[in-house]
Amino acid sequence: MKNKTTKKTSNKLNSVKVRITLWYTALMLVIVTVVMSAVGILSYRLAMDSTKADLKAQVLQIGDKVRSRMSRSTIYNLENNEEFKNVSIYKENGEYIIGRYDYDVSKIPFKNEVLRKEDVNGKSYLVYDIFKPGTPGRSEGCWVRGTESVVYTKIFGRSMIFIILIVIPFIMLLTALGGYFITRKAFCPIDNIAKTAEEICSSKDIKKRIAITLGAREDEMLRLSLTLNLMLDRIEGLIEKEKQFTSDASHELRTPISVILAQGEYLTEIAETEKEKELAKSITDKAKQVSKLVSRLLLIARIDQNRQKPNREKADLAVLTDIAFEELNDAAAEKNISLVSDIEDNTIVYVDEALFLRVLSNLISNGIKYGRESGYVSVSARRVDDLLEIAVEDNGIGIANENIEKIWDRFYRVDDVRNDEYGSSGLGLAVVKGIVKLHGGEIYVESEPNKGTKFIICGI
Ligand code: ADP
Repeated sequence: MKNKTTKKTSNKLNSVKVRITLWYTALMLVIVTVVMSAVGILSYRLAMDSTKADLKAQVLQIGDKVRSRMSRSTIYNLENNEEFKNVSIYKENGEYIIGRYDYDVSKIPFKNEVLRKEDVNGKSYLVYDIFKPGTPGRSEGCWVRGTESVVYTKIFGRSMIFIILIVIPFIMLLTALGGYFITRKAFCPIDNIAKTAEEICSSKDIKKRIAITLGAREDEMLRLSLTLNLMLDRIEGLIEKEKQFTSDASHELRTPISVILAQGEYLTEIAETEKEKELAKSITDKAKQVSKLVSRLLLIARIDQNRQKPNREKADLAVLTDIAFEELNDAAAEKNISLVSDIEDNTIVYVDEALFLRVLSNLISNGIKYGRESGYVSVSARRVDDLLEIAVEDNGIGIANENIEKIWDRFYRVDDVRNDEYGSSGLGLAVVKGIVKLHGGEIYVESEPNKGTKFIICGI
């Protein structure tokens, strides 16, 4: 279960859509971070530069107004001067006279004409002082100080945190969602192609086609879908032709084979010498074999072309099994194989009797052919979740694991040389599968070499 989840997640991550979205989102993250940081740093620098210039201008302006002495009128002028907002004046010994008062600021030592940043009690200030010398003997000099508290760093820091925590993730989310939506739309035709291919593979229905949306844009994807649909048309046509050929050929072969068979039987009757009898029998046996092969081919072709409609009616499985056993009694006796029926009376199946008899006899005859001397072939039935499960089992040679999937293929025989002895064609199981499918059921096999084989039919 855990493995499945991991596999699903890794499959999703492997999807081209997700990879493209991740790539663009990551690229966007880098671009947005770089651009926002550059803009942030630049605006911080510009703001600092303009604050510095502004502060210096204020100090110089006030400094110009403080003439050689601090007369009442100068102070009065200064008090009314709106440029005074960040500036204060101190005596030469540092005692505050006028202007903006801030205890922390007044403690900063004076430095003439040096624009600097000072930190006091956890606060940062831009400070610019100029010294205005007095007239010796008449008036003292004074300091003109401009200060601006530096809150930009904090504001900048907060903005950066805001950008990093909220704006960037938001942009990323938008980019990822938008990107995924667009790529999903762009990849929709590819999904359709994959879905159709999967459907064709799983249901083996070559009639399925790639869905093309009305008004779809005429791009490479549309061209690809149309071309693939055309290719499927061609493949379907070829398959139909092949089925028709098999059907026609089998049909054409039926009459001459019947004639050969009839004449072979007649020859057997009129043969006088042993040699003649042997030859006539050989002709009859081979003609029977070919006739069986042709009738199987014909049935397969009819099922393939949907021309074989099952004539379903209620039948007793136990009775059908007995009929099949009856037919194969001699073959079983030759190998001393017991035919066992483990079916309750009145086990009703809703099948085409003639066709279903072919299923039973093919499976039982395989059980005999590939069964061991003095072994058994059993037919049993049981109800699983209210559905009937029919099993044909033998204790014969079994089938190796690597061949188990191939036995359903047409003309496949596990051991060609040995199977020739049995007159096998490799079509029996293909016929069985076709008939079971025709009845809406399924058949599968369980087998172990040298232990035996069990064919299970369900869903009928
Ligand atoms: P055939 O008509 O030649 O028997 P089938 O289609 O019935 O062909 O079977 C295909 C192959 O599957 C056989 O050649 C045989 O090797 C294998 N097979 C079928 N049934 C059994 C079985 N009961 N036990 C072992 N092998 C089997």
